Amino acid sequence: MNNQLYGNLIFELSQEGRRGYSLPRNHFGPYAVPQDMRRKEDAALPECDEMTVVRHYTNLSNNNFGVDNGFYPLGSCTMKYNPKLNEEVAALPQFQNLHPLQPASTVKGAMAVVTLLERSLCELTGLAHFTFKPYAGAHGELTGLMTIDNYHRARGDWQRRKVVVPDSAHGTNPASAAVCGLEIIEVKSSADGTVDVDALQAIVDQHGDTIAAMMMTNPNTLGLFETHIPEIARMIHGCGGLMYYDGANLNPMLGVCRPGDMGFDVMHINLHKTFSTPHGGGGPGAGPVGVREGLQQFFPEVSPWHGNFAVLMRAYAYILSLGREHLREVGPLATLNANYIKESLKDVYELPIDTMCCHEFVFDGLKDKSTGVTTMDVAKRLLDYGYHAPTIYFPLLFHESLMIEPTENESRQTIDGFIAVMRRIADEARSEPETVKSAPHLTPIGRVDDVLAAKHPVVTYRQLQAES
Ligand SMILES: *Cc1c(COP(=O)(O)O)cnc(C)c1O
Repeated sequence: MNNQLYGNLIFELSQEGRRGYSLPRNHFGPYAVPQDMRRKEDAALPECDEMTVVRHYTNLSNNNFGVDNGFYPLGSCTMKYNPKLNEEVAALPQFQNLHPLQPASTVKGAMAVVTLLERSLCELTGLAHFTFKPYAGAHGELTGLMTIDNYHRARGDWQRRKVVVPDSAHGTNPASAAVCGLEIIEVKSSADGTVDVDALQAIVDQHGDTIAAMMMTNPNTLGLFETHIPEIARMIHGCGGLMYYDGANLNPMLGVCRPGDMGFDVMHINLHKTFSTPHGGGGPGAGPVGVREGLQQFFPEVSPWHGNFAVLMRAYAYILSLGREHLREVGPLATLNANYIKESLKDVYELPIDTMCCHEFVFDGLKDKSTGVTTMDVAKRLLDYGYHAPTIYFPLLFHESLMIEPTENESRQTIDGFIAVMRRIADEARSEPETVKSAPHLTPIGRVDDVLAAKHPVVTYRQLQAES
């Protein structure tokens, strides 16, 4: 790689008077910006020719790693391949150029997409209505909890201010409850990684008439199917609460089972995880919220119109292109791939919960702890072999968590390649531990001091200059 171009900031490549554009001819005549609105000094903008700009940003973009460059086994946050067809459909000018304030008679096609997508999601989840307003999963959780809150208040049940959340929950669950002004009661997991029903019974006995809802993720954040849901739903409904389903991880359930049939009243779906929108780095996303019949009048207004419409387009294109018969295969294939990796590596990586998993599973570091090689080292070494690192040190239930989710898209060859590399790293941990501990060796930036980077992040150019 050309370091001259690659390592520098665009400002450092600037040459006075260099240009990369020519303005079109001005047809409007001169216009003088009023004196009081002018800058005192020229803006410090980089001056570069077009090729320098193109090469600079192209080289930078080559440092990105995404699911389009290679295998991305991140757990807890489905990172699956998003077919390019769906991008093309979402970019059709007839949809892309709509304005939300256009007369309704001119946007019938877009409204049909919303209606048909709602119908598809209802069928896939067993719920009766969806709102597409939320912009993300966490936003959906908040919307769902506000819906639940509105429902209790409408019944005069003002005292229901508590939400039961399992200790394995995604961090957004308690955060959303707190933002909604609700109080969180944590229920612990039993040794098998699922909700401890006895512990929940004790909570229901003590707090029953103040419980607004229970939030559950299924499969949970350990990738385990929560087997006690019918019983849990009976307990929560029995005390007057509602069941909330965090459907961010709906992927392994597609076509296999439906939250509405399990006793859930309200749920959100991360369209940007399960239904084809590239995500990461904060958006765009869509977290539609579904409810059972009779709750739809309690939906709050959390955004204007129908949320991120282009994300809805991609989801609908994804559903239509797979169709009923192939949507059914998504969940089972994702589950098969995860179990295949788990079984192929459990002799060299520590598997704390050794059962069938769903879309993902968690190792507790390498099996051989005598080498001193940590989960962090394994994750860094994977970068040298061209893989994105899995999720590490989450969930917090184990010290050396390493969480893997392959998704349904990866071929047998890709998965076998990943397994081979994971085994090789386990060998290296024994034969040459220093190589693993000092990885990565082949990335533009080697091992960073993550404590220093977190405590003293250098995020501005000026600060960099001052320090050098
Ligand atoms: C990703 C995820 C969320 C949050 O979704 P965002 O769109 O990132 O807000 C919530 N719960 C679970 C289980 C998740 O995996």
